[in-house]
Amino acid sequence: MTKFQIGDTVYIARAGQEQVWVQCPECLGSGRLRVILGDETEVSIACVCCDRGYEGSPGRVQTYKFISDTTEHTLTGISSQLKGDDHEVHYHSGGRSIEEKDVFATREEALTRAATLVAEHEAEEKKRLGYKEKQHKKWAWNVQYWRGEIRRAKETIAHCEARLAVAPKNPRHADKEPTVVMGELTQQENG
Ligand SMILES: [Zn+2]
Repeated sequence: MTKFQIGDTVYIARAGQEQVWVQCPECLGSGRLRVILGDETEVSIACVCCDRGYEGSPGRVQTYKFISDTTEHTLTGISSQLKGDDHEVHYHSGGRSIEEKDVFATREEALTRAATLVAEHEAEEKKRLGYKEKQHKKWAWNVQYWRGEIRRAKETIAHCEARLAVAPKNPRHADKEPTVVMGELTQQENG
């Protein structure tokens, strides 16, 4: 025997959701984070919390606003499935399948359940946003990585400059040095 029968009018509880953007809790909208290193050097990196890959860090994060909602339905079907020791009942209406715990005889009861659903969703969303915050390890890694890249690039430049010997020790000799013009080796005329 199920709580409701086919043909009954019921009220379904749901938490409607709306996508909203809020200011990033980490960079407060700037999209950047300042990091002070051990030697007091200050560097600025793109905010890790609101990072959106190729889109960069916009300074805001996407989240959801949940709204208590109820809808009225006429039941067109009932199904039951054995889950452990219990039978899990689902009610059907217009192609929708709804769990028994979200189906009620009155709108008031459905609204109470909807408020619980909203609270549950809000807690989950808060947890999800929490994971994105305070990722100090990730920032540290980013700073370390880019500083390493800069150091390697500087070493490459120093190495290349040394190979080219761009600054002759005696400026007078510079006149006698062969000059490369568009890949063509020419001897400069003397006086
Ligand atoms: Zn941010």
